[in-house]
Amino acid sequence: MQTRASRWVREAIQSQDSYHVPDVADVIKLDAMENPWSFPPEIDAAWRESLAGIALNRYPDPVARDLHAPLRALMQVPDSASLLLGNGSDEIIQFILLSLAAPGRTVLAPSPSFVMYDVLAKACGMEYAAVPLGDDFSLDLPAMSRAIEEHEPAVIFLASPNNPTGNLFESAQVEEIIAIAPGLVVVDEAYQPFAGSSFMSRLDSCPNLVVMRTLSKVGLAGLRLGILAGHGEWLDEFNKLRLPYNINSLTQATAAFALQNWDVFQQQIDAICEERKRVLEALKAMPWITTWPSQTNFILFRSESQPADTVHARLLVDGILIKNLHRPGTALENCLRVTIGSPDENDTFLASLSRSA
Ligand SMILES: *Cc1c(COP(=O)(O)O)cnc(C)c1O
Repeated sequence: MQTRASRWVREAIQSQDSYHVPDVADVIKLDAMENPWSFPPEIDAAWRESLAGIALNRYPDPVARDLHAPLRALMQVPDSASLLLGNGSDEIIQFILLSLAAPGRTVLAPSPSFVMYDVLAKACGMEYAAVPLGDDFSLDLPAMSRAIEEHEPAVIFLASPNNPTGNLFESAQVEEIIAIAPGLVVVDEAYQPFAGSSFMSRLDSCPNLVVMRTLSKVGLAGLRLGILAGHGEWLDEFNKLRLPYNINSLTQATAAFALQNWDVFQQQIDAICEERKRVLEALKAMPWITTWPSQTNFILFRSESQPADTVHARLLVDGILIKNLHRPGTALENCLRVTIGSPDENDTFLASLSRSA
């Protein structure tokens, strides 16, 4: 029977699944690229103090003014570029798409890549063109060029390093795509802190480029703070669709505090990169596992013996949650993605995995 909801909710929404977050307590959580550590105790106390004066009865600063200078300094944003903040970079993707959406317009991205581009494009009524990545998950430039010519995309999303493959795209290829794109190119640098390389300095020379960052993967996933840098020509328009007060007072104060204490995060990032090397070596030593190099805080691997579903389920029995990316008949067949955790968590994961052969 047709319900009132099914009569009125748009078909593009009804045909989607809701974003699935597994509901599991007391597991070692290595599924969502979270940093395993929070503030050390002495810093934690100072953070709590920094929140004491916040007037929760008042609306937050609408543009989070205090965050702009430290974010610009940390991310080396060129003076010519503007900044726009989002409630996570997911919200930034949403307001970019809302401002570009029109019937028949296309969003283009390589595949596999970050799922929210696809989900939000369709929610905004846009077409989504997914261009398969080439060998070793590098960009297939001829295929991208053909797709750009065919679809004339309003926007191209390039996550570099890419999720879920973990690799950084070649700069020259990204530059080529920016050069031939008829519309906007969003370089999504959610994992830049683990890779080093950035397109931020190209904002000066590329008027159709915007660069997106987030504090989520470096240790502040609970804050929900995403950052967009780019020319005012674009950002002033996106800003009209940004909901007023989208960055709450607690997030603004905590982010300001975190940026003043960035050395803590930098040490954690360095430790995660060290652990990444160790976990990758250990995975490579398992003959039934294929790995890919990573410039992120996670590693993509394939099980060549047991099905990925079995590996995933066995790890969960041992209290370890990773991400099962298995899609039959795709490049991600029997692939899984593990976030780099603390050394103890990684040891527990590796020990459990080695029993799954
Ligand atoms: C995690 C992730 C995001 C979303 O980050 P939030 O700021 O937490 O919304 C965006 N892009 C990529 C590629 C990601 O992996």
